[in-house]
Amino acid sequence: MGIDAFLEEVRSRLDIVSVVSSYVPLKRVGKNYQGLCPFHIEKTPSFTVSPDKQMFYCFGCGVGGDVIKFIQLIEGVDFLEAVEMAAQLAGLSLDEIRRESPKDKREKDRLKALHALLASSFSSILRTDAGTVAREYLKSRGITPLWWEVFKIGFLPADMDIAPLCYKRGFTQEELIATGLFYRKGDGLVCRLSNRVIIPICDYAGSVVAFGGRVIGEGEPKYLNSPETPIFQKGKLLFGWHLAKEYIRTKGRVILVEGYMDVISMHIAGFRETVASLGTAFTVEQAKRISRLTRNVFILYDGDNAGLKAAFRASKVFYAVGVEPKVVVLPDGKDPDDFLKDVGPLDLEALMVRAKTPVDMLIEEDVGGALGTREKLRRIFELLEDTKDALVVDSVLSYAATRLGLPFEDVRASFKESRRAVIRKQENRDNGRRVSWERDFLVYLLRDPGLFERYRGKLSPELFKDKEVSFVVDRLLKGDPPERMVNDCGQDISSLVAKALFSEASPDEELSVLEERILKRIELFELERIKRRIKELAASNMCDTEEYKSLVSTYIEKLKATKRVGGGIHESC
Ligand SMILES: [Zn+2]
Repeated sequence: MGIDAFLEEVRSRLDIVSVVSSYVPLKRVGKNYQGLCPFHIEKTPSFTVSPDKQMFYCFGCGVGGDVIKFIQLIEGVDFLEAVEMAAQLAGLSLDEIRRESPKDKREKDRLKALHALLASSFSSILRTDAGTVAREYLKSRGITPLWWEVFKIGFLPADMDIAPLCYKRGFTQEELIATGLFYRKGDGLVCRLSNRVIIPICDYAGSVVAFGGRVIGEGEPKYLNSPETPIFQKGKLLFGWHLAKEYIRTKGRVILVEGYMDVISMHIAGFRETVASLGTAFTVEQAKRISRLTRNVFILYDGDNAGLKAAFRASKVFYAVGVEPKVVVLPDGKDPDDFLKDVGPLDLEALMVRAKTPVDMLIEEDVGGALGTREKLRRIFELLEDTKDALVVDSVLSYAATRLGLPFEDVRASFKESRRAVIRKQENRDNGRRVSWERDFLVYLLRDPGLFERYRGKLSPELFKDKEVSFVVDRLLKGDPPERMVNDCGQDISSLVAKALFSEASPDEELSVLEERILKRIELFELERIKRRIKELAASNMCDTEEYKSLVSTYIEKLKATKRVGGGIHESC
């Protein structure tokens, strides 16, 4: 089955109203259902679900799409993961369309099964006599059996060989080595996690795909993680995500810490909306995943200088995806675990309330001592270096300008100076500005397939100056159903199309007026085309050809006609 056919099958088996209702209470209003939008804060419902169209749309924040898009947004997962979840709800398996070879798929499934077996074995060992030393350690850190359960914590004593158990369950030595957790010694295998408290690392669906081990007592390294494998890519995962996502959504905020032990301490202290990047640098992919669920981000790294620097690096990644985070600074260089033990959760909450954005921190000289205005600006610019959204950049710069008592235009100009290339790209993008009458015409086209059919032969994307309108017309001409565009186009286009389909309100302009304008535009384009061709022919000395003669006479005819219609060929839009 191809992907499109598969998606159709998934969509046809699911009812969007029942899927959405499992997240959002809905009430029937006319032929649609309404509820409070889960994607923005509101008091009166503007979130609408249409059983006829099998789509949702929010009149407040403009998000919309089909059942898969809804799952994608509400679960904060990417498209493929959403398809997988939707398929599961529909009782279908993604295997039917999976691109990877059956061999790769089998290898991954085996690896996951082996990780599951190891995780359950480690966790049983923790509960036996052999686990006493580990239980003591966990107790000393305040991690009670309830939390062993939640995080599937386990242990492997130094003198225990776990390999034979795996062989008994049908796994081979090669498969054990493929986890990156075992190495050969003589005839047998040694597990790198020996004498460590073991924390399973799960993927977004909650399957164990790697392990972290904290050494008991002295020993190096203190923390040891699985290397990357076909099922584990560090920059892609956030530790604790599958446990935290529900809380992130309901609390409307996320706390980002550095390591898994911090996540565990935070969850125990009641901050269940906490996740961690996995030891490596925080990535755009991780930031995007978070930003799909919430834009209210707190970075809580160690309170020392290194932690603060890392927090600023992570901030830059958040700015890159258009999110302005807040940085919580722990006093006296403490880490989250120390702070919770020595001071307590209430004080942490208070610190969070007072947490500042990196820009405020720079302006208020909280970092790096007394900075001059020029240096402060330079560091603010640095934070925004990778930010592509011009609106985000402007809003941060205008705020900084006000606080520093500088004219916004000057600050903006010097930012542009420091990042000319990037800004140039954005200005190019702005050229396809909104043209409201084109948008109005598009609304009629989208709502009335008959109207579109009448114009099909005459329309082309180049006719429209509004980039988004042009894009939608292009897709319509290629035969894409509008519902599909709502789903897989960017927010601007998705919102434009969804609004046209959902809103009952008529556009500002009447159709007849718009038709007149579009016909004039079509005429003008045809004239331009003929003029270009005439010039081409003239340039290649082909003025005595039949084509040339007939083009010139058509051109003159058309020119006269447009003059007669009035308004001439010069438009005022
Ligand atoms: Zn909304």
